Amino acid sequence: MPELPEVETVKNQLAPHIIGRTITRVTLLWDRMVKGQDPQEFVKGIAGQKITDVTRHGKYLIVHLGSGHKMIIHLKMTGSLILGNQNDTEPPQYSRAIIHLDDGQNIYFRDPRKFGILNLVKDTLEIDAKLGPEPLEEAFTPQVFTDGLIKRSAPVKSVILEQKFIAGVGNMYADEALFLAKIDPRRPANKLKKAELKRLFTAIQDVLIAGIKYGGASVVTYYHPDGSVGTAHQHFNVAHNLAKVCPVCGGPIKRVVVGGRGTYYCPKCQK
Ligand SMILES: [Zn+2]
Repeated sequence: MPELPEVETVKNQLAPHIIGRTITRVTLLWDRMVKGQDPQEFVKGIAGQKITDVTRHGKYLIVHLGSGHKMIIHLKMTGSLILGNQNDTEPPQYSRAIIHLDDGQNIYFRDPRKFGILNLVKDTLEIDAKLGPEPLEEAFTPQVFTDGLIKRSAPVKSVILEQKFIAGVGNMYADEALFLAKIDPRRPANKLKKAELKRLFTAIQDVLIAGIKYGGASVVTYYHPDGSVGTAHQHFNVAHNLAKVCPVCGGPIKRVVVGGRGTYYCPKCQK
């Protein structure tokens, strides 16, 4: 599932191609991708609008429109945004929406599993209220991090997955961060020692920065706007158990379920 590094990569690659362009029309191939509003209203609100900016908050991609409204895109489990053009004989397989631009480009929202979301909103207040600090921005400090964890008895992994606690961290990067910090993902958050909290804070930032550097992880269906794939997964230590054995001790990686999420960790290195 696309997490912060994947959505950040999409934003960075898409922005130079679409900022300043005008959306001429939108073709919805799967109406129900528009959640909580009339799909036709969505289409009408977008058509004719100039794209003034593209930003990200957590795992949300936010396309700013000339009207001041924002188009919100959530890739959910299997979504990708693919850039193409209006001479394409047919859209990429599993395209659920096509955003047509005035310079002949198309943005295809490709989404095999159909969990992706499109919305048109006046402002992002509702989204912002659901999200904690961005882990790579100043608001995310060791103090904020520690204060949030010490009052929670839930497994540390479950807490760092909460978008209200930190925006954008998902299953893969949580597993990677806990591995780097040498912490068993099932430990109650309030039982972590000072040194462990410090290691985990740094590890979260490190895995996200590396994820962005490698263009995100293409484990299942994540593609870049140009159709290429990210390579962050090739550098994973435990997530999805792609390496099979622990790169530090050589022991087997174990899979457990933490808060309903498949979790990979090294029982020897992570205590
Ligand atoms: Zn190990």
